[in-house]
Amino acid sequence: MSAQRGRSSARGGVGPSVGPSTLPSTPGTGPRPSAPSLRAGVGGAPPPVEGRALSDPRYDFHSHTFLTDGETAATDMWLQALALGHRALAITDHLYTEDPKPMLERLLQEQKGFEFEGLTTVVGVELSMVPPRRIAEAAKGARRAGAEIVIVHGETPVEAVPPGTNRAALSSNAVDLLAHPGLLTEEEAELARAHDVVLELSTRRGHSLGNGGVAKLALQVGADLVVDSDAHAPAHLVRQEFARKVALGAGVPLAHVTKVVTETPLQLLKRLGKAGRS
Ligand SMILES: [Zn+2]
Ligand SMILES: [Zn+2]
Repeated sequence: MSAQRGRSSARGGVGPSVGPSTLPSTPGTGPRPSAPSLRAGVGGAPPPVEGRALSDPRYDFHSHTFLTDGETAATDMWLQALALGHRALAITDHLYTEDPKPMLERLLQEQKGFEFEGLTTVVGVELSMVPPRRIAEAAKGARRAGAEIVIVHGETPVEAVPPGTNRAALSSNAVDLLAHPGLLTEEEAELARAHDVVLELSTRRGHSLGNGGVAKLALQVGADLVVDSDAHAPAHLVRQEFARKVALGAGVPLAHVTKVVTETPLQLLKRLGKAGRS
């Protein structure tokens, strides 16, 4: 991991109105540990898991709100994350080439008002469809505007992402994570390792089609991996047990899964200046 690039944010203050009504309306997402299933759009509910500590906390660095193409507010996403056993959830709404300030100010304000214990809230951006030659500068601009994490919308197999996006993101020290890289090359995996950019395995339908190749190359060169949901609604967030399955399904060996779903996320939080915060 490279030097500290993030910044911490203050907590406290007056909270926005909370919309807890979204919580009970989602089947299988209640706080009871005996109901591990939830994810709409990821291929059905997993069977109940015996023996595994469902209290094993979950970390997710990629999600969206209605400020871009998500369905609800950051507060709703964070509350649902808490209910599912998350220790951290990043809101990373799409930023194209516009001024990052209005969106980030809105999210950072909401973050200040989130006074529920137990969750590390992270606010950032997902640079999306930015011309590759402008990605490094856009990442720096987002940081200056208060982004605690900068991720880049990678070259997923299911969208027309500008070619060269992966390479530009992986060459920038201002980028923390490359989301759904799609058909990653070995050279790009090496860049990820060299610049400490974390590579993402996605639980999201479509984006997840590239997971196998991403995992293989990351493991081959020693680049870091995490499992993110790219949730656009509370029901898209996944429990830790499902994140483990996605890692295993992508070809991550059993002995390496904890590194992907727990150790690397903790290192990333530390790098973001968010370790030990709730
Ligand atoms: Zn994306
Ligand atoms: Zn996304």
